[in-house]
Amino acid sequence: MTTKEIRKAFLDFFKERGHEIVPSAPIVVKNDPTLMFTNAGMNQFKDIFLGEAPVKSSRVADTQRCLRVSGKHNDLEEVGIDTYHHTMFEMLGNWSFGDYFKKEAIAWSWELLTEVYKIPKDQLYVSVFAGDEAEGLPKDNEAFDFWKQFVPEERIVLGNKKDNFWEMGETGPCGPCSEIHVDCRTPQERAAGDGKSLVNADHPQVIEIWNNVFMQFNRLKNGSLQPLPAKHVDTGMGLERLVRVLQNKTSNYDTDVFQPLIQFIATEAKAVYGEDEKVDIAMRVIADHIRAVSFAIADGQLPSNNKAGYVIRRILRRAVRYSYTFLGFKEPFINKLVPILADQFAGVFTELESQKDFVQKVVLEEEAAFLRTLETGINRFEKYLQTNDNQVVSGNFAFELQDTFGFPIDLTELMARENGWTVDMAGYHKALGEQKDRSRAATSVDTGDWIILKESDNVEFVGYDKLEIECLILKYRKI
Ligand code: ATP
Ligand code: MG
Ligand code: MG
Ligand code: MG
Repeated sequence: MTTKEIRKAFLDFFKERGHEIVPSAPIVVKNDPTLMFTNAGMNQFKDIFLGEAPVKSSRVADTQRCLRVSGKHNDLEEVGIDTYHHTMFEMLGNWSFGDYFKKEAIAWSWELLTEVYKIPKDQLYVSVFAGDEAEGLPKDNEAFDFWKQFVPEERIVLGNKKDNFWEMGETGPCGPCSEIHVDCRTPQERAAGDGKSLVNADHPQVIEIWNNVFMQFNRLKNGSLQPLPAKHVDTGMGLERLVRVLQNKTSNYDTDVFQPLIQFIATEAKAVYGEDEKVDIAMRVIADHIRAVSFAIADGQLPSNNKAGYVIRRILRRAVRYSYTFLGFKEPFINKLVPILADQFAGVFTELESQKDFVQKVVLEEEAAFLRTLETGINRFEKYLQTNDNQVVSGNFAFELQDTFGFPIDLTELMARENGWTVDMAGYHKALGEQKDRSRAATSVDTGDWIILKESDNVEFVGYDKLEIECLILKYRKI
């Protein structure tokens, strides 16, 4: 099955079971100071779970574009290194708002995986909340019993609060969850294993694909749990991981989600994917990062020097450095991946298709701007490593790289790590603080139409205006 078919099969399956298929929310979250980017399918339904928004349909399903690069969920460091964490990914989800509960959710996830997608039953593990006495949380016996109808007990793993109990915050709706893992080890690897039940952390080829959260409690301010009057189901399945399983690959990057991008990168770089690990990582990182950057821009977040915009700029600069150092690109090229991506998502997330020229231009300009200082910065960095021998990049130098050459601090950290060095982060923050004090003393210059801002000034993105490129009208879907 292709990715498009796999995505469609999920949505069709839940549509047939009475779910309304709703659009993905934008990847960029506006008007929520607690969250910069959508990091899970449930984000757009938060107010329903809190009882602050009415339920229009009690069963919905969708595919949500997510970004996990900041806050509690930050997978940036794993990307390109492991085979199944991405910055941007699609989370397929089905929800019940006070409608069906564990019995149906469990039976349907089993039916979908084993009968529609035909994953061999003996390759599936599930985890169930073991309970936590100290916290007064009961074991999820109900889920255990429902799973037992499908899965032999030795493949039902009891999990702790960290992995198998979900809470929105210190108070509010919460409940146990059941994760589904697929064992993609070869028969030889399986035979060599010690036979114990496996979940994702134990073997790189046993991966978590789906999480089913059962919201059944409300935690009060005094810490006690009350049963929720209306119980909810909230599920999330990583599409790229599912595709990898169904296409029988050992890495998400070998699927039709990433191969068109990777093959294009390889051709442009005159390199072959799969021959040199450093080159491969670079290709994977670029293929991953362009997805995150493109969707963020298409959804209204231009790269900038502040907040969410700076997160996007950092991701893009990280990709540019990988392409420069490991693939030898001295000219902008990452932007050329945008049309490929837009084609892949045609008819799925049309936001990208309809704005692809604009998105490509923004990426091109960002690339060109960073490439102007990247080489000098890298030369300075290499010289620094040669002329110092304490294995620690000083805070002042890390700050200089940022201030003069535009190297985000996490890029300097990454480059240091590649050489077995660390960065004096306390020193870096001190230097940064001193610069902020200096620029606060200087005022912004008001020139009429535009306010010239210092790099360190705090601005908030309020919408696109006429850019030097073309006039862009930003559209948001009302949700
Ligand atoms: P993991 O333990 O692998 O980091 P998670 O427990 O943090 O995953 P959940 O928050 O349960 O993930 O999200 C639901 C599903 O979304 C996961 O089961 C997985 O399939 C997918 N997923 C989560 N993070 C990523 C990511 N960074 N890249 C791709 N898919 C992801
Ligand atoms: Mg995670
Ligand atoms: Mg997990
Ligand atoms: Mg999980």
